[in-house]
Amino acid sequence: MKKHAEKKEISTDVLVIGGGSAGCFAAISAARLGAKVLLIEKNGMLGGTATAGMVNFPGLFHAWGKQIIDGPAWEAITRCVERGGAVLPPFPYKSEHHNMQQILVDIFTYTCVLDEMCIESGVKLLFHSMISQVRERKNGVSAVVTTKDGPLYVNAKKLIDTSGDADALRLAGCEYKISDRTQPATLINDLTGYEPEDIDREAFHEYIEQCYREGKLTPEDSQGFDMFMRVEKKRIHMHVNSIDAHTSEGKTALEIEARQTLARILKSLSGFKGLENIRVARCGHECGVRETVRIVGEKEITAEEYLAAEIREDSVCYAFYPIDLHRGTDIKQIFIEDGKIPSIYYGNLVPKNSKHMLMAGRCLSSDADANSALRVQASCMAMGQVVGVAAAICVNNGYDVYKIPMTLLKDGLRKIGAIVPEI
Ligand SMILES: Cc1cc2nc3c(=O)[nH]c(=O)nc-3n(C[C@H](O)[C@H](O)[C@H](O)COP(=O)(O)OP(=O)(O)OC[C@H]3O[C@@H](n4cnc5c(N)ncnc54)[C@H](O)[C@@H]3O)c2cc1C
Repeated sequence: MKKHAEKKEISTDVLVIGGGSAGCFAAISAARLGAKVLLIEKNGMLGGTATAGMVNFPGLFHAWGKQIIDGPAWEAITRCVERGGAVLPPFPYKSEHHNMQQILVDIFTYTCVLDEMCIESGVKLLFHSMISQVRERKNGVSAVVTTKDGPLYVNAKKLIDTSGDADALRLAGCEYKISDRTQPATLINDLTGYEPEDIDREAFHEYIEQCYREGKLTPEDSQGFDMFMRVEKKRIHMHVNSIDAHTSEGKTALEIEARQTLARILKSLSGFKGLENIRVARCGHECGVRETVRIVGEKEITAEEYLAAEIREDSVCYAFYPIDLHRGTDIKQIFIEDGKIPSIYYGNLVPKNSKHMLMAGRCLSSDADANSALRVQASCMAMGQVVGVAAAICVNNGYDVYKIPMTLLKDGLRKIGAIVPEI
């Protein structure tokens, strides 16, 4: 006989929504400073876009020959390296900014390392669960999480939104911005069924031109790059436009369109000699999303500020990546001047007027152009560390999130091994 389900309720110091680049390190950092942490993740694995989206090349941890991001984030990378699950670029990382040195991590190793680091730090993990209600109250946050076995009511002293799309903060009614034209998405894939050296390059180019004329392919199918290069690397980087990926309906349409786009490209390519058996060996469980919403924070970082790279009192972590605007067949990049290292300001991670909620990752308060640089994984990890530490300190001292003294926050960051920008 079935029993009447009891109301499930839990109290925690810090509730983290989303276990991707920002969320894992927010949770680990808060827990390492003694906070009781619950991390909710909608997928069955940690890592977010890096694992479920197969964007397994986080960057950038170094700038101009020096390390700029350390702490639990770098510990995860080194743990992967120790197990043969990541390859570091050659030291001393003194390359030009445009020779970006992302670190290739093995997806399985990386997600195992994240599981272990969360568990060792005492983070309570809850997979296959989504946030569905959030209310900011006088003394904290009450939330409802949809789990496989019904609603879970959570009372938290602080909430950190690291869902990428700011799901929790939007549910709480926080103000947000969406670009008129968000950056396109890409379904990362690995191809098989052919040998690139069997392909006649000249004839291939003629074939692709013919496909363009017949409307079977478009230059956007290879992000404006030479399709031969894509085929040679056994990975087609395409663009999927007009996405609305912060809603379930929009994300459903995106996933279908991304798969259909890839299937159409492969169908056309399979008409060429040597590519008859081209097929997808594996692809992301989720289409990789570059941009959705940006929360209005206490401070918004603009592209001008980002490129000016002024270190201020409230600079809480470094970030290093060019402005990286994907538009149709064009990728426009603006590089950072030699020697400069931009930073993220604490107010970029605090939703406007919030007392108990923080954010990290690609939904931070930024203009669209700055966001295109700040969204990369190493920066998201560093932001995660900042808000994790901030949340733990605020819980311990009863602070509202924007009232935390910067000296205390920076001391906490040093305690977990993070690098704090020096004025
Ligand atoms: C095609 C492409 C190429 C890229 N190239 C690079 C690159 O070369 N180097 C680099 O460093 N970065 C790159 N990026 C950017 C980077 O991968 C992402 O911007 C970054 O991972 C964002 O981190 P995040 O923590 O904000 O979000 P995510 O890593 O996406 O994590 C969000 C997590 O929240 C979970 N979640 C979402 N909604 C909910 C909910 N309602 N309830 C519970 N859980 C939820 C998700 O499942 C996910 O695990 C690229 C991105 C794309 C799409």
